[in-house]
Amino acid sequence: MKKAVVCGAGGFIGSHLVKKLKQEGYWVRGVDLKHPEFGPTAADEFLILDLREAVNAYKSLTVNGRAVDETYQLAADMGGMGFIHSAECEIMHNSALINIHLIDAAATLGIARYFFSSSVCVYRDMQPGEPEMSEDQAIPANPDNEYGWEKLYAERMALAYERRFGTQVRIARFQNCYGPQGTWRGGREKAPAALCRKVAETGDDGVIDVWGDGSAVRSYTYVDDMVDGIFMLMQSELHGAVNIGCPQYVSVDELAQTVAKVANKKINIRHIEGPVGVQSRNFSNERIYSLGWRSRFSLEDGIRRTYPWIANQVESTQRHER
Ligand code: NAD
Repeated sequence: MKKAVVCGAGGFIGSHLVKKLKQEGYWVRGVDLKHPEFGPTAADEFLILDLREAVNAYKSLTVNGRAVDETYQLAADMGGMGFIHSAECEIMHNSALINIHLIDAAATLGIARYFFSSSVCVYRDMQPGEPEMSEDQAIPANPDNEYGWEKLYAERMALAYERRFGTQVRIARFQNCYGPQGTWRGGREKAPAALCRKVAETGDDGVIDVWGDGSAVRSYTYVDDMVDGIFMLMQSELHGAVNIGCPQYVSVDELAQTVAKVANKKINIRHIEGPVGVQSRNFSNERIYSLGWRSRFSLEDGIRRTYPWIANQVESTQRHER
Protein backbone atom coordinates (compact mmCIF):
# COMPACT_ATOMS: atom_id res chain seq x y z
CA MET A 1 0.00 0.00 0.00
CA LYS A 2 1.46 3.38 -1.01
CA LYS A 3 1.92 5.88 1.80
CA ALA A 4 1.07 9.55 1.24
CA VAL A 5 1.31 12.61 3.47
CA VAL A 6 -1.04 15.54 2.91
CA CYS A 7 0.30 18.73 4.46
CA GLY A 8 -2.55 21.15 5.07
CA ALA A 9 -4.99 18.25 5.54
CA GLY A 10 -6.98 20.28 8.06
CA GLY A 11 -7.81 22.80 5.35
CA PHE A 12 -10.36 22.91 2.56
CA ILE A 13 -8.67 21.31 -0.46
CA GLY A 14 -6.38 19.15 1.71
CA SER A 15 -9.29 17.49 3.51
CA HIS A 16 -10.99 16.67 0.19
CA LEU A 17 -7.69 15.37 -1.22
CA VAL A 18 -7.32 12.99 1.74
CA LYS A 19 -10.71 11.46 0.82
CA LYS A 20 -9.63 11.06 -2.80
CA LEU A 21 -6.34 9.35 -1.82
CA LYS A 22 -8.22 6.97 0.49
CA GLN A 23 -10.55 6.09 -2.42
CA GLU A 24 -7.44 5.40 -4.51
CA GLY A 25 -6.22 2.90 -1.89
CA TYR A 26 -3.47 4.89 -0.16
CA TRP A 27 -2.47 4.88 3.49
CA VAL A 28 -2.72 8.60 4.32
CA ARG A 29 -1.29 10.78 7.04
CA GLY A 30 -2.70 14.28 7.40
CA VAL A 31 -0.61 17.08 8.91
CA ASP A 32 -1.83 20.51 9.91
CA LEU A 33 -1.97 23.08 12.71
CA LYS A 34 -5.60 22.07 13.20
CA HIS A 35 -8.07 19.26 12.56
CA PRO A 36 -10.58 19.80 9.72
CA GLU A 37 -13.21 22.23 10.98
CA PHE A 38 -16.32 20.75 9.41
CA GLY A 39 -16.10 17.00 9.90
CA PRO A 40 -13.75 14.15 10.75
CA THR A 41 -10.67 13.56 8.62
CA ALA A 42 -10.58 10.52 6.33
CA ALA A 43 -6.85 10.13 7.05
CA ASP A 44 -5.46 7.01 8.73
CA GLU A 45 -3.37 9.19 10.99
CA PHE A 46 -3.43 12.92 11.71
CA LEU A 47 -0.54 14.87 13.21
CA ILE A 48 -0.92 18.35 14.63
CA LEU A 49 2.40 20.00 13.76
CA ASP A 50 3.65 23.47 12.92
CA LEU A 51 5.34 23.04 9.55
CA ARG A 52 7.28 26.29 9.92
CA GLU A 53 9.65 24.20 12.06
CA ALA A 54 12.24 22.10 10.15
CA VAL A 55 12.08 19.28 12.68
CA ASN A 56 8.33 18.94 12.08
CA ALA A 57 8.78 18.77 8.33
CA TYR A 58 11.06 15.74 8.81
CA LYS A 59 8.72 14.22 11.38
CA SER A 60 5.79 14.58 8.96
CA LEU A 61 7.40 12.72 6.11
CA THR A 62 8.67 9.58 7.86
CA VAL A 63 6.76 6.59 9.24
CA ASN A 64 8.75 4.32 11.59
CA GLY A 65 11.95 5.97 10.36
CA ARG A 66 11.17 5.39 6.67
CA ALA A 67 10.26 8.07 4.13
CA VAL A 68 6.71 7.94 2.72
CA ASP A 69 6.15 7.51 -1.05
CA GLU A 70 4.34 10.76 -1.91
CA THR A 71 4.03 14.21 -0.32
CA TYR A 72 1.19 16.58 -1.17
CA GLN A 73 2.07 20.08 0.05
CA LEU A 74 -1.05 22.24 0.49
CA ALA A 75 -0.25 23.91 3.83
CA ALA A 76 -0.18 27.71 3.57
CA ASP A 77 -1.17 30.80 5.49
CA MET A 78 -3.89 31.74 3.13
CA GLY A 79 -7.28 33.33 2.50
CA GLY A 80 -9.34 35.37 0.07
CA MET A 81 -8.54 38.87 -1.27
CA GLY A 82 -9.26 40.57 2.08
CA PHE A 83 -6.68 38.39 3.82
CA ILE A 84 -4.13 38.52 0.98
CA HIS A 85 -4.13 42.31 1.14
CA SER A 86 -4.05 42.67 4.93
CA ALA A 87 -1.59 39.90 5.88
CA GLU A 88 1.26 40.22 3.40
CA CYS A 89 4.00 39.66 5.97
CA GLU A 90 2.35 36.60 7.55
CA ILE A 91 1.79 35.05 4.11
CA MET A 92 5.37 35.62 2.97
CA HIS A 93 6.93 34.61 6.28
CA ASN A 94 4.81 31.60 7.22
CA SER A 95 4.21 30.05 3.81
CA ALA A 96 7.84 30.52 2.75
CA LEU A 97 9.08 28.76 5.90
CA ILE A 98 6.67 25.87 5.37
CA ASN A 99 7.78 25.46 1.76
CA ILE A 100 11.49 25.84 2.51
CA HIS A 101 11.45 23.10 5.13
CA LEU A 102 9.12 20.67 3.38
CA ILE A 103 10.93 20.45 0.05
CA ASP A 104 14.27 20.21 1.87
CA ALA A 105 12.97 17.36 4.03
CA ALA A 106 11.29 15.57 1.11
CA ALA A 107 14.36 15.76 -1.13
CA THR A 108 16.92 14.80 1.47
CA LEU A 109 14.76 11.92 2.73
CA GLY A 110 14.58 10.65 -0.88
CA ILE A 111 10.81 10.93 -1.27
CA ALA A 112 9.91 9.86 -4.80
CA ARG A 113 7.19 12.43 -5.58
CA TYR A 114 6.39 15.87 -4.22
CA PHE A 115 3.27 17.84 -5.14
CA PHE A 116 3.19 21.60 -4.64
CA SER A 117 -0.04 23.63 -4.69
CA SER A 118 0.74 26.87 -6.47
CA SER A 119 -1.73 29.45 -7.74
CA VAL A 120 -2.63 31.45 -10.83
CA CYS A 121 -1.77 34.44 -8.60
CA VAL A 122 1.78 33.96 -9.98
CA TYR A 123 0.62 35.59 -13.25
CA ARG A 124 0.39 39.29 -14.00
CA ASP A 125 -2.96 41.05 -14.25
CA MET A 126 -4.82 40.69 -17.56
CA GLN A 127 -7.36 42.73 -19.49
CA PRO A 128 -10.75 41.33 -20.56
CA GLY A 129 -10.51 39.73 -24.00
CA GLU A 130 -6.77 38.97 -23.82
CA PRO A 131 -5.79 35.63 -25.38
CA GLU A 132 -5.06 32.68 -23.06
CA MET A 133 -1.81 32.73 -21.13
CA SER A 134 0.22 29.54 -20.90
CA GLU A 135 2.37 28.44 -17.97
CA ASP A 136 5.67 29.76 -19.35
CA GLN A 137 4.19 33.27 -19.54
CA ALA A 138 4.45 33.65 -15.76
CA ILE A 139 7.98 34.85 -16.60
CA PRO A 140 8.86 37.76 -16.80
CA ALA A 141 7.04 37.87 -13.50
CA ASN A 142 4.76 40.57 -12.17
CA PRO A 143 2.27 38.99 -9.75
CA ASP A 144 -0.37 41.35 -8.40
CA ASN A 145 0.25 40.42 -4.75
CA GLU A 146 2.86 39.02 -2.35
CA TYR A 147 0.98 35.70 -2.11
CA GLY A 148 1.77 35.20 -5.82
CA TRP A 149 5.44 36.09 -5.37
CA GLU A 150 5.80 33.60 -2.52
CA LYS A 151 4.21 30.87 -4.67
CA LEU A 152 6.59 31.64 -7.52
CA TYR A 153 9.58 31.44 -5.19
CA ALA A 154 8.35 28.13 -3.73
CA GLU A 155 7.84 26.69 -7.25
CA ARG A 156 11.40 27.58 -8.20
CA MET A 157 12.81 26.21 -4.98
CA ALA A 158 11.02 22.89 -5.48
CA LEU A 159 12.37 22.66 -9.04
CA ALA A 160 15.92 23.43 -7.84
CA TYR A 161 15.68 20.56 -5.31
CA GLU A 162 14.38 18.29 -8.05
CA ARG A 163 17.44 19.08 -10.20
CA ARG A 164 19.82 18.40 -7.31
CA PHE A 165 18.18 15.43 -5.54
CA GLY A 166 15.95 13.75 -8.14
CA THR A 167 12.68 13.93 -6.18
CA GLN A 168 9.99 14.20 -8.87
CA VAL A 169 8.19 17.53 -8.38
CA ARG A 170 4.68 18.17 -9.68
CA ILE A 171 3.30 21.72 -9.54
CA ALA A 172 -0.32 22.76 -10.08
CA ARG A 173 -1.37 26.38 -10.41
CA PHE A 174 -4.92 26.38 -9.07
CA GLN A 175 -7.59 28.78 -10.18
CA ASN A 176 -10.09 29.77 -7.43
CA CYS A 177 -11.45 26.65 -5.81
CA TYR A 178 -14.76 26.30 -3.96
CA GLY A 179 -17.10 23.69 -2.55
CA PRO A 180 -18.64 22.40 0.67
CA GLN A 181 -16.50 22.38 3.83
CA GLY A 182 -14.50 25.44 2.81
CA THR A 183 -14.02 28.51 4.98
CA TRP A 184 -17.20 30.57 4.66
CA ARG A 185 -16.74 33.37 7.22
CA GLY A 186 -14.13 34.98 9.46
CA GLY A 187 -12.13 36.97 6.89
CA ARG A 188 -10.27 34.16 5.08
CA GLU A 189 -13.20 33.07 2.89
CA LYS A 190 -12.99 33.49 -0.87
CA ALA A 191 -15.54 35.11 -3.17
CA PRO A 192 -17.83 32.09 -3.91
CA ALA A 193 -18.17 31.22 -0.20
CA ALA A 194 -18.57 34.87 0.82
CA LEU A 195 -21.32 35.42 -1.75
CA CYS A 196 -23.11 32.19 -0.79
CA ARG A 197 -23.05 33.38 2.85
CA LYS A 198 -24.32 36.86 1.97
CA VAL A 199 -27.15 35.47 -0.16
CA ALA A 200 -28.08 32.97 2.56
CA GLU A 201 -28.17 35.77 5.14
CA THR A 202 -30.44 38.03 3.10
CA GLY A 203 -34.15 37.69 2.39
CA ASP A 204 -35.80 37.60 -1.05
CA ASP A 205 -35.25 40.97 -2.81
CA GLY A 206 -32.53 41.75 -0.26
CA VAL A 207 -29.30 43.68 -0.80
CA ILE A 208 -25.82 42.15 -0.80
CA ASP A 209 -22.52 44.04 -0.78
CA VAL A 210 -19.94 43.21 -3.44
CA TRP A 211 -16.38 44.58 -3.30
CA GLY A 212 -15.43 46.69 -6.34
CA ASP A 213 -17.59 47.34 -9.40
CA GLY A 214 -18.44 43.64 -9.95
CA SER A 215 -16.71 43.43 -13.33
CA ALA A 216 -13.55 41.49 -12.34
CA VAL A 217 -13.39 38.25 -14.35
CA ARG A 218 -12.44 34.90 -12.78
CA SER A 219 -12.97 31.19 -13.21
CA TYR A 220 -14.06 29.01 -10.27
CA THR A 221 -13.22 25.33 -9.98
CA TYR A 222 -15.31 22.90 -7.99
CA VAL A 223 -13.23 21.05 -5.40
CA ASP A 224 -13.92 17.52 -6.76
CA ASP A 225 -12.51 18.60 -10.13
CA MET A 226 -9.48 20.11 -8.39
CA VAL A 227 -8.58 16.99 -6.42
CA ASP A 228 -9.03 14.83 -9.55
CA GLY A 229 -6.58 17.15 -11.32
CA ILE A 230 -4.07 17.01 -8.46
CA PHE A 231 -4.14 13.22 -8.43
CA MET A 232 -3.86 12.89 -12.22
CA LEU A 233 -0.96 15.31 -12.32
CA MET A 234 0.87 13.56 -9.49
CA GLN A 235 0.61 10.19 -11.28
CA SER A 236 1.78 11.68 -14.58
CA GLU A 237 5.14 12.50 -16.10
CA LEU A 238 4.08 16.11 -16.78
CA HIS A 239 6.95 18.24 -15.60
CA GLY A 240 6.89 21.94 -14.69
CA ALA A 241 3.94 24.08 -13.62
CA VAL A 242 0.43 23.10 -14.81
CA ASN A 243 -2.69 25.30 -14.69
CA ILE A 244 -5.82 23.62 -13.31
CA GLY A 245 -9.11 25.45 -13.67
CA CYS A 246 -12.63 25.36 -15.01
CA PRO A 247 -12.68 27.06 -18.46
CA GLN A 248 -15.86 29.05 -17.64
CA TYR A 249 -14.99 32.70 -16.93
CA VAL A 250 -17.53 34.99 -15.25
CA SER A 251 -17.66 38.44 -13.64
CA VAL A 252 -18.13 38.76 -9.88
CA ASP A 253 -21.67 40.06 -10.53
CA GLU A 254 -22.40 36.96 -12.64
CA LEU A 255 -21.09 34.79 -9.81
CA ALA A 256 -23.43 36.59 -7.36
CA GLN A 257 -26.39 36.12 -9.74
CA THR A 258 -25.58 32.41 -10.13
CA VAL A 259 -25.70 32.04 -6.34
CA ALA A 260 -29.02 33.95 -6.24
CA LYS A 261 -30.48 31.69 -8.96
CA VAL A 262 -29.49 28.56 -7.03
CA ALA A 263 -30.89 30.07 -3.81
CA ASN A 264 -34.07 30.98 -5.69
CA LYS A 265 -33.88 34.58 -4.44
CA LYS A 266 -33.93 37.92 -6.20
CA ILE A 267 -30.94 39.95 -5.01
CA ASN A 268 -29.86 43.56 -5.41
CA ILE A 269 -26.12 44.13 -5.61
CA ARG A 270 -24.55 47.14 -3.86
CA HIS A 271 -20.97 47.76 -5.00
CA ILE A 272 -18.75 48.93 -2.17
CA GLU A 273 -15.06 49.67 -1.82
CA GLY A 274 -12.87 46.68 -1.05
CA PRO A 275 -9.84 44.72 -2.28
CA VAL A 276 -10.61 43.24 -5.69
CA GLY A 277 -7.28 41.97 -7.01
CA VAL A 278 -6.67 41.52 -10.72
CA GLN A 279 -9.13 42.66 -13.40
CA SER A 280 -9.19 39.58 -15.58
CA ARG A 281 -7.99 36.00 -16.07
CA ASN A 282 -7.76 33.67 -19.07
CA PHE A 283 -5.45 30.68 -18.83
CA SER A 284 -4.58 27.80 -21.08
CA ASN A 285 -5.52 24.34 -19.78
CA GLU A 286 -3.74 22.52 -22.62
CA ARG A 287 -1.17 20.89 -20.33
CA ILE A 288 -3.68 19.39 -17.88
CA TYR A 289 -6.01 18.53 -20.79
CA SER A 290 -3.14 16.49 -22.28
CA LEU A 291 -3.63 14.08 -19.34
CA GLY A 292 -7.34 13.72 -20.12
CA TRP A 293 -8.51 15.98 -17.28
CA ARG A 294 -11.66 18.05 -17.87
CA SER A 295 -13.72 19.94 -15.30
CA ARG A 296 -16.98 18.05 -14.81
CA PHE A 297 -18.82 20.81 -12.92
CA SER A 298 -20.05 24.06 -14.45
CA LEU A 299 -20.24 27.03 -12.07
CA GLU A 300 -23.97 26.47 -11.55
CA ASP A 301 -23.45 22.72 -10.90
CA GLY A 302 -20.80 23.49 -8.32
CA ILE A 303 -22.81 26.23 -6.61
CA ARG A 304 -25.78 23.81 -6.45
CA ARG A 305 -23.54 21.55 -4.37
CA THR A 306 -22.01 24.35 -2.29
CA TYR A 307 -24.82 26.79 -1.51
CA PRO A 308 -27.00 24.37 0.52
CA TRP A 309 -24.00 23.49 2.71
CA ILE A 310 -23.22 27.18 3.43
CA ALA A 311 -26.91 28.06 3.89
CA ASN A 312 -27.07 25.27 6.44
CA GLN A 313 -23.98 26.61 8.27
CA VAL A 314 -25.55 30.09 8.33
CA GLU A 315 -28.83 28.72 9.65
CA SER A 316 -27.28 26.65 12.43
CA THR A 317 -25.05 29.59 13.48
CA GLN A 318 -28.10 31.87 13.63
CA ARG A 319 -29.97 29.22 15.65
CA HIS A 320 -27.10 29.04 18.17
CA GLU A 321 -26.94 32.82 18.51
CA ARG A 322 -30.67 33.13 19.23
P1 NAD B 1 -6.83 26.35 3.61
O1 NAD B 1 -6.47 27.60 4.33
O2 NAD B 1 -8.21 25.80 3.83
O3 NAD B 1 -5.79 25.20 3.97
C1 NAD B 1 -4.44 25.46 4.28
C2 NAD B 1 -4.11 24.70 5.55
O4 NAD B 1 -2.73 24.93 5.88
C3 NAD B 1 -4.94 25.16 6.76
O5 NAD B 1 -5.68 24.09 7.31
C4 NAD B 1 -3.90 25.68 7.74
O6 NAD B 1 -4.18 25.40 9.11
C5 NAD B 1 -2.65 24.93 7.29
N1 NAD B 1 -1.46 25.59 7.79
C6 NAD B 1 -1.20 26.93 7.77
N2 NAD B 1 -0.04 27.17 8.40
C7 NAD B 1 0.44 25.98 8.82
C8 NAD B 1 1.59 25.59 9.55
N3 NAD B 1 2.47 26.49 9.97
N4 NAD B 1 1.77 24.27 9.82
C9 NAD B 1 0.85 23.35 9.42
N5 NAD B 1 -0.26 23.65 8.72
C10 NAD B 1 -0.46 24.96 8.43
O7 NAD B 1 -6.56 26.62 2.07
P2 NAD B 1 -7.03 25.80 0.79
O8 NAD B 1 -8.04 26.62 0.10
O9 NAD B 1 -7.34 24.40 1.13
O10 NAD B 1 -5.70 25.86 -0.09
C11 NAD B 1 -4.77 24.78 -0.11
C12 NAD B 1 -3.55 25.18 -0.93
O11 NAD B 1 -3.96 25.51 -2.26
C13 NAD B 1 -2.81 26.40 -0.39
O12 NAD B 1 -1.44 26.22 -0.59
C14 NAD B 1 -3.31 27.51 -1.26
O13 NAD B 1 -2.40 28.58 -1.34
C15 NAD B 1 -3.50 26.81 -2.59
N6 NAD B 1 -4.49 27.49 -3.46
C16 NAD B 1 -5.80 27.51 -3.09
C17 NAD B 1 -6.72 28.17 -3.90
C18 NAD B 1 -8.19 28.22 -3.52
O14 NAD B 1 -8.97 28.82 -4.27
N7 NAD B 1 -8.62 27.64 -2.40
C19 NAD B 1 -6.31 28.77 -5.09
C20 NAD B 1 -4.97 28.74 -5.44
C21 NAD B 1 -4.06 28.06 -4.62
